[in-house]
Amino acid sequence: MEGPESCNTYNMLKLSQGLFRLRPEAKYMDFYEKALYNHVLSTQHPQHGGYVYFTPARPRHYRVYSAPNEAMWCCVGSGMENHGKYGEQIYTHGKDSLFLNLFIASELNWKQKGIRLKQETLFPDEATTKLSVTGGAGRFTLMVRYPSWVKEGALKILVNGKQVPYQQKPSSYIAINRSWKKGDVIQVELPMRTIIEPMLHVPEYVAIMHGPILLSARTDTKISED
Ligand SMILES: [Zn+2]
Repeated sequence: MEGPESCNTYNMLKLSQGLFRLRPEAKYMDFYEKALYNHVLSTQHPQHGGYVYFTPARPRHYRVYSAPNEAMWCCVGSGMENHGKYGEQIYTHGKDSLFLNLFIASELNWKQKGIRLKQETLFPDEATTKLSVTGGAGRFTLMVRYPSWVKEGALKILVNGKQVPYQQKPSSYIAINRSWKKGDVIQVELPMRTIIEPMLHVPEYVAIMHGPILLSARTDTKISED
């Protein structure tokens, strides 16, 4: 019931990256995104900067933070790396393909191809992202992640305002092969649903998810009697 240590999830992200390198399948990035937003992002105290040890699965449980400048255990060492890694997995590339894995505002300088891209989004506060080619030109396949949490057929991709047809199902990549040039705009609509998800090994509780985001509520700190 204690749930994972922060360093467990740190290692799971590393493992997902390694598996994705061998086989670029969307299921690894579905996991990566979920772990990033719902665990890693919350593993540092916003005021004193301490790092979180366990994140319990039990509702209204407590978390233990490291004492800044004193503690040096597993989740502290990996914990301080975590927040410098957010840019790592947004894009990956093959020889002639570019994978859009994560919906995070960013800029990419793909040196081998001489291509520059900019991603603008407030995701997950908005269920959409916009990718623009801001420099260079060339042919490559843009692989857009179709997340598992978007309903079948609900994902929309527009290239320069024109909808891209596709056959793929959720948890896959949609390949768009064309000659790209500065000024091209790719708009991706990612409608989120609110669903109840069972929790692995914790049958007493369920998770309420909105898109890839676990919903939570602030409660008081009293121990409940019942
Ligand atoms: Zn640890």
